[in-house]
Amino acid sequence: MSISNRIKNITAGGSDGWGVFNRARKMISNGEKVIELSIGEHDIRTDSTIIEAMRKSALNGNTGYAEMQGLIKLRNLIAKLNEEKTGVKTRPENVIVTPGGQAGLFATHMAVCNEGDRALYLDPYYATYPGTIRSIGAKDIPIKTEAKNNFQPTFEEIDKNAHGAKSLLINTPNNPTGAVYTRGTIEGISKAVIKHDLWLISDEVYDCQIWNGKHISPRSIKEIEEKTLVIGSMSKSHAMTGFRCGWVIGPEFIIEHMVNLATSTTYGLPGFIQEAAYFALSQGKEGMEKVSLPFKRRYELATKILQKNNSINLVPSDGTMYLMVDIRKTGLTGDEFANLLLDKKKIAVMPGESFGQAAAGHLRIAMTVSDKIFEQSLIDICEFAENI
Ligand code: PMP
Repeated sequence: MSISNRIKNITAGGSDGWGVFNRARKMISNGEKVIELSIGEHDIRTDSTIIEAMRKSALNGNTGYAEMQGLIKLRNLIAKLNEEKTGVKTRPENVIVTPGGQAGLFATHMAVCNEGDRALYLDPYYATYPGTIRSIGAKDIPIKTEAKNNFQPTFEEIDKNAHGAKSLLINTPNNPTGAVYTRGTIEGISKAVIKHDLWLISDEVYDCQIWNGKHISPRSIKEIEEKTLVIGSMSKSHAMTGFRCGWVIGPEFIIEHMVNLATSTTYGLPGFIQEAAYFALSQGKEGMEKVSLPFKRRYELATKILQKNNSINLVPSDGTMYLMVDIRKTGLTGDEFANLLLDKKKIAVMPGESFGQAAAGHLRIAMTVSDKIFEQSLIDICEFAENI
């Protein structure tokens, strides 16, 4: 029996970038002790008040099919919060709740690209981006950004590659680099979006993890407000990765089509999950700050530790739960380094190559263990690098 080209093409026959992570998980299931600094999973758990809100909702009978587009009170709140951030009038009709930001990435590309269309994204990129674009049959076109510009994309870089493209996917604050796009960067992106008449898909799932500067959503730029689709999520802001609750915000006429897609795919989200998300978002900034604070603290810790070594350079960043480090001085590729580190030190990090060509020779280190373990792990990684 044959299977479809489209589904086979999700990994395009190559690696999906999760090799080291999968190997670490296998070692753990075989009883080995491995320190995981690989995926974006917080070390703290979801706040118990959020879980209680979910439990109460389920016990109150909220266990049937929920409103397909998302509970109206949740969409109202998401719309209000986005309007406060962007200044753009936003109504619940502009919002669809999706099973995580990931489903939003899929739905937005599905909504704007035909088969064979060129869909742009910036390299380094979150590892699922190419597969998501390929899964809807579009052509994924990475655009390299430069380490020397701290991975801030420029108008020229996008312009050169944008001919005939349908969409551009950006991510600020950025996974894996931690870059928070400046106003100048967002304006450059906006110029390219207008010039090439692109849909801009703006992945903002880390908008609450910033310790320097300010998150600027491109939706706040008047000229591209109607061309921008914002992806949001509860995963990172509230340590709710397993709840699978995210959203897309955009013009009503396109959100309507995404509701049709939901009808034929996810059939919406459980009501008790959405009630938990509503409760969490209603608590304001304090809860979010509690979740993001450890990453700021650990970034500062890392800056101090990495200053003392000669083989690893920290890529300066302004946000997210990750560190990007340059290991090119060791003479190893990111893949080689990460695999050896796992074998020799039982520490799992992500090779830069998992996030594209621009991140080759780098590692992404998730700051997702206690300060004490994090500090020791970084000291071990430095020692390992010095002795290669
Ligand atoms: N975008 C980026 C940049 C991410 O890092 C992630 C998860 N790691 C997602 C989207 C998807 O998040 P979720 O589906 O959990 O909301």
